Amino acid sequence: MLDALRACGLKVTPQRLAILNQLVGDPTHPTATELFGRLREELPSMSFATVYNTLAALTKQGLCAARQLESGPVRFDPNVAPHDHAVCDSCGLVIDVMTEGLAAASAATNLKPVQGFSVRSVERIYRGRCVQCAAPNEPQTDAEKETGD
Ligand SMILES: [Zn+2]
Ligand SMILES: [Zn+2]
Repeated sequence: MLDALRACGLKVTPQRLAILNQLVGDPTHPTATELFGRLREELPSMSFATVYNTLAALTKQGLCAARQLESGPVRFDPNVAPHDHAVCDSCGLVIDVMTEGLAAASAATNLKPVQGFSVRSVERIYRGRCVQCAAPNEPQTDAEKETGD
């Protein structure tokens, strides 16, 4: 964690550590606004600019990934390994779909891209419904509601 911040040339501060911790522990690909909302509860003096600038620095160093999966705001992803995403039509949940590096590479070569275009990466989005939204309309228990948050 500390190394990640130092690698960005950022001074290690409690606020930046909190941002990093919040992101790394979150598989839901939060937006900067979502992270800010959560962090502000424990660190009321935190500014949105601190959150945004720290995320931008981490992204620039390749320590997290900025992903534009929908037309909405950029989402930040602590998983920088090549992978695809599944997005739920109903609730917008984003799930990582780990793919073999080879599969992505062969997809890239099968693409017969526009002449002269060099493929940097291939990212697919699977659209459908998450487990919760695909479930029959049974009344949800409180525990299930909580995981959907
Ligand atoms: Zn869903
Ligand atoms: Zn992801």
